[in-house]
Amino acid sequence: MKDYARYSFWLETAGENLTPRASLTRSEEVDIAILGGGYSGLWTAYYLQRANPGLRIAVVEKEIVGFGASGRNGGWCSSRFPVTPTVLRERFGAEAARNLLQVMFDAVDEVGRVCSQEEIAADYRKGGILTLARGTHQESSLRASYEAYRRLGLESHFQLLNAEQSRERVNITNVHGGLYTPEGASIHPAKLVRGLARTLEKLGVVIYEQTEVIDVLPGQAPRLVTGSGELRARQGVLLAGEAYLTRLRKFHRALLPMYSLISITEPLTPSQWAAVGWQNYESLASYRLTVDYLTRTADGRILFGSRGAPYRFGSLISDDQDRHALTHSRVHALVAEWFPMLKGVQFSHNWGGPVGVPRDWMPSVRFDPATRLGFIGGYTGQGVATSNLAGRLMAALITHPSSPIAQLPLAHRSSPNWEIEPLRWLVVTYMQKAFQRIDEAQEAGKPKPWDAGIVESLGRH
Ligand SMILES: Cc1cc2nc3c(=O)[nH]c(=O)nc-3n(C[C@H](O)[C@H](O)[C@H](O)COP(=O)(O)OP(=O)(O)OC[C@H]3O[C@@H](n4cnc5c(N)ncnc54)[C@H](O)[C@@H]3O)c2cc1C
Repeated sequence: MKDYARYSFWLETAGENLTPRASLTRSEEVDIAILGGGYSGLWTAYYLQRANPGLRIAVVEKEIVGFGASGRNGGWCSSRFPVTPTVLRERFGAEAARNLLQVMFDAVDEVGRVCSQEEIAADYRKGGILTLARGTHQESSLRASYEAYRRLGLESHFQLLNAEQSRERVNITNVHGGLYTPEGASIHPAKLVRGLARTLEKLGVVIYEQTEVIDVLPGQAPRLVTGSGELRARQGVLLAGEAYLTRLRKFHRALLPMYSLISITEPLTPSQWAAVGWQNYESLASYRLTVDYLTRTADGRILFGSRGAPYRFGSLISDDQDRHALTHSRVHALVAEWFPMLKGVQFSHNWGGPVGVPRDWMPSVRFDPATRLGFIGGYTGQGVATSNLAGRLMAALITHPSSPIAQLPLAHRSSPNWEIEPLRWLVVTYMQKAFQRIDEAQEAGKPKPWDAGIVESLGRH
């Protein structure tokens, strides 16, 4: 059996021995069959079961609950949506964009509410989100971001901070200002997903682990096909496999697996925390194109995550991509640069995992009553709170399709497929390298590379 604790600091510290649940050993019939034991599948099951206690729901997971991004992420339970407010407004209009962001604020609170109602001890702490302009070159992104919220009438949720006010919250170098919102929380990701699974079992949902779905058959009697039996569903089959779903041929180009990598320090000493500040546990980030996200953990460590691990030809997902020496060493250097007072701090764990990127960056939740097939996902690394919203939406699409939540722009939609190889590899690799070049040039005080305009417009989301 795999040593699941080695996949992330979170799985290691989830407070469980991670022994897999029983697998599916023969064909069965249920009302709803769900592929994927991450937040998306489990939130969907939770809201369906709470609203319809008589439903028979089964979840099928290839590994164990929380094996995927849900047991590995950065711990941001964030109101940020994968598509920026500006692009949401352009695509769907101001009112739809405002409604969507408003329900994202609510999703953060809803995760906290369920944790307390169901007694899931997931270290939920609502410290907000602080996005920092590090360097003068990031000041325009900071202003544009605030302005986008202001144009939607959401400015009361955001506060512009000057350099000094930002440093009063957390003592980071080269800060020229910050944008603070209280609409975010930090969580222990694995405690959340594992706790949700236990809650579901108490409610009567069956979870099969160590069971890989090898085919999905839609229709009046839709089925999840596994090597050891079929799960036949009277009402619907739901696909919640996120990046890993692309391993099934039928869904290979539906998403692109992009690795996000994390390093975490040993717990800091009280004097180190006194020098750093960060007393309110805000989720932290800057405006780098190559992405950075930081969390102060409940046990007093700094988690620093970033992109940068190369996309692999053919959308390959494999355990050996969970760690990438060059990216982790860059992350270690960034910690030293952001927090010079922590010179010599040791890193206890490095890990990573694939996020599912849709071709247009927009998550989708859809259920087709004719084929009884549903899809939920495509969060591009912003899935902790978004999957809660998506799970509620999926439950509504199945049982109350005319409810107001079903009008949100992520409902009833699909993203275009990704290009075929080798085009996919060429474009994604070019974009990844270009983002790196742009960040490096700007941080060195040099002009942006010649192709920055094209790259930024292609990567706009
Ligand atoms: C390193 C990292 C950092 C991140 N940081 C953040 C963050 O701080 N904040 C945030 O909001 N989001 C973050 N994300 C994204 C967030 O974690 C995900 O969007 C979210 O967890 C997705 O949940 P999910 O249930 O859709 O997918 P997953 O958690 O990936 O679950 C999918 C499950 O489906 C299973 N599966 C797939 N195919 C099959 C099959 N054929 N048969 C059976 N089972 C199958 C997989 O084994 C997996 O367990 C991060 C992601 C990563 C990888």
